[in-house]
Amino acid sequence: MKSSTIAAISTAMMNGGISVVRMSGDKVFDIADKIFQSVNDKIPSKMKGYTCAFGHIVFGGEILDECVLTVFRSPKSYTGEDMVEISCHGGVYVTQQVLRACLMSGAELALAGEFTKRAFLNGKMDLTRAEAVIDIISADSENELKYANSLHEGALSRRIDTISTELTKILGDLAAWADFPEEDLPELDDNMLKKRLSDVLDDISQLVSTYDYGKIIRNGVDTVIVGKPNVGKSTLMNNLSGFERSIVSEFAGTTRDAVEESIRLGNVTLRLSDTAGMHSTDDYVEGVGVKIAEKKLENAELVLAVFDYSRPLDDEDNELLYKIMNKNTIIVINKTDCECRLDIDIFKDKFENIVEISASNNEGINALTELIEKMFSMGKVNFSNGIIANQRQWICAVNAKNALENAKIASDDNMTYDILTVLIEEAAGEIAKLKGESLSENVVNEVFSRFCVGK
Ligand code: GDP
Repeated sequence: MKSSTIAAISTAMMNGGISVVRMSGDKVFDIADKIFQSVNDKIPSKMKGYTCAFGHIVFGGEILDECVLTVFRSPKSYTGEDMVEISCHGGVYVTQQVLRACLMSGAELALAGEFTKRAFLNGKMDLTRAEAVIDIISADSENELKYANSLHEGALSRRIDTISTELTKILGDLAAWADFPEEDLPELDDNMLKKRLSDVLDDISQLVSTYDYGKIIRNGVDTVIVGKPNVGKSTLMNNLSGFERSIVSEFAGTTRDAVEESIRLGNVTLRLSDTAGMHSTDDYVEGVGVKIAEKKLENAELVLAVFDYSRPLDDEDNELLYKIMNKNTIIVINKTDCECRLDIDIFKDKFENIVEISASNNEGINALTELIEKMFSMGKVNFSNGIIANQRQWICAVNAKNALENAKIASDDNMTYDILTVLIEEAAGEIAKLKGESLSENVVNEVFSRFCVGK
């Protein structure tokens, strides 16, 4: 199939040692022959794949730069098409001049993600692997990179393939029995069919649940700091984030809104909100802050509930204890530098995670951060099993799970094989979409529009 020839700068637009200008498409060698002069008479169109030549980019009779040109021949290239990569000096201006020479000689400027989109359309990688490319580029922690690499290496694809193969086998058995009853095929064992449906439903359900891990790795842990006014929430937040972000004051009710901060503790990123103290108030603005705090508490993946070591629990503290009872909570007892007036045993019966700190003296903060790291370190996540990476994939997996749940109900109710077939086909279709098969052009364009130009 004929394809237009695209070109783009693949490295960052800043001065550096080396920049790479990349071209892909049918005319790359015509263009490269025009603009590249090798020092030892190598001609790009005659060069073998995976070889390179040293020379100059020449345009309009002028040498623009010294460079190394590497040749990739279809289908053994990133995009699956003929490709050339020009490694030139890493100045922004000179790199732009090299790109301009490619464009003036017949290439078109590549759109965002167009190289990877071509790789996908040419069958070099399925959509889950292509999507992982963007995650590798934007990864900024060890876990994010491990996770993106496992996706790119095909862990999720393999997991999807196993599910898809089993669904196809079940559909095949149903079709054989329904379409060729006269062939004397062994009757389908209903119990066995139910067991197979149930097993594959378990697999899909487990796959759906991995989205939460992915979300935590990519977006961080949604964390909220709650507690009565003046217990030291803002001081703790500032302590964790390393600089003054919330307003610390000795007057109750100073933090009226939710203040948010993204902080990294080892391999865990917390999306941390310090909130207005949870208490009843007549002040309208403060009341809005309290409502925001309650909403944040409801949705939080981790609650840091702060209590004051120097005061006994009162009704407001007890109300808060009730609200956080079934949440993923760490009880943070602050102001341990003061005299103790708090009955700590009350917490011990109800909560597993209790840490004593003095936020203003920076004491106990290490124990707190170590505990958080332990709770969310993802040490138990096996990346090589494949993890759902984004919302698009998650929606497909959930749709497949719903269709299969309906199939299981239909099978338990002894409905006809025709009905079962329709429902299992629906699940198989969603699993295929997860991999990027039979997706509309709009969806594919949407996926690649998130990429940078040159990738
Ligand atoms: P918030 O209303 O819960 O956000 O509380 P703040 O962080 O604004 O702190 C309220 C007051 O308690 C301030 O005067 C802080 O300096 C003080 N405070 C915070 N942490 C500690 C601590 O560990 N020990 C002592 N003695 N005072 C603290």
